[in-house]
Amino acid sequence: MQCKICDNAQGNQTYRVREMMFGYRESFEYLECSQCGCLQLVQIPADMSKYYAAAYYSFLPVDSESPNVLRRTAKRLRSAYALGDRGLVGSALFSVFPHHELRSVAKAKLPRVPRILDVGCGRGKLLLELKHAGFGELLGVDPFLECDIQYPNGLLIRKCSLYEVTGQWDLVMFHHSFEHLADPLETLRYCSKLLSENGQCLIRVPTVSSYAWRKYRENWVQLDAPRHYFLHSVRSLEMLASKAGLRMEDVAYDSNEFQFWGSEQYCRDIPLHDERSYARNPSKSIFAREDIRAFRKEAEALNARKEGDQAIFHLSKNRGEESR
Ligand SMILES: [Zn+2]
Repeated sequence: MQCKICDNAQGNQTYRVREMMFGYRESFEYLECSQCGCLQLVQIPADMSKYYAAAYYSFLPVDSESPNVLRRTAKRLRSAYALGDRGLVGSALFSVFPHHELRSVAKAKLPRVPRILDVGCGRGKLLLELKHAGFGELLGVDPFLECDIQYPNGLLIRKCSLYEVTGQWDLVMFHHSFEHLADPLETLRYCSKLLSENGQCLIRVPTVSSYAWRKYRENWVQLDAPRHYFLHSVRSLEMLASKAGLRMEDVAYDSNEFQFWGSEQYCRDIPLHDERSYARNPSKSIFAREDIRAFRKEAEALNARKEGDQAIFHLSKNRGEESR
């Protein structure tokens, strides 16, 4: 079987992976390329709708701003810190409640009034926070929304695909949406066309260049069959980016305790949405608070060693190579 990223057909390995978010337990075939390392779903089911039940998290209603002034202020301070402000209170809040999405936007070195596009943004939670933090030119798109959303503060979230977006953007970002796309190369090529001269693309995804994939394999929680079509290695995403005329500038690992408790649950046949799952009932779960704390520490250590199970990839336009 051939790799969909680099075409290699030699020495590839396959895995049967079960649907364990909802606990349907049907199994799906995944191929791991021996050359580029990309793990990929071999056959995308004809009807994916049953795997995106109405309760799927991105589509839950987004909290409007909290009516509690203290909480609202705390959120603002943390956002400001994540976006580059050096305030002590914000720093303390960030260390307890980290916000890697905002941090990754700050890292993108944008012009003063950046135009930011969020692809697969659900109901636009991150964009709302950017709006509250003072960013002006924002747009979110998600084809799986029921309809467009126009927030009172002017933020627009459109029910449409990336290919319906036009104009020039300084930052195009995919926060845990890129792995759900069946056409990653076409997506990046189109993304490259939308980018302004110094525009950047930010892709936040689970990665197989990680300890969790090596340790847990079929039970790795972020494999998430069959919703995740491609689980890239650093190498395979770099190859894909290069084919689309983009250059990989930076990889920042931002994994957390989920890789451990989620995967440990799957090893014991406990689905993510199960009554006994830590996601639903921490007190009924198989983990004590100390276990979770230890997992968090381990995740931080993995990130520092570039072995966490998710990362933020910063890509920039590779001028002169767009036509390849
Ligand atoms: Zn490959």
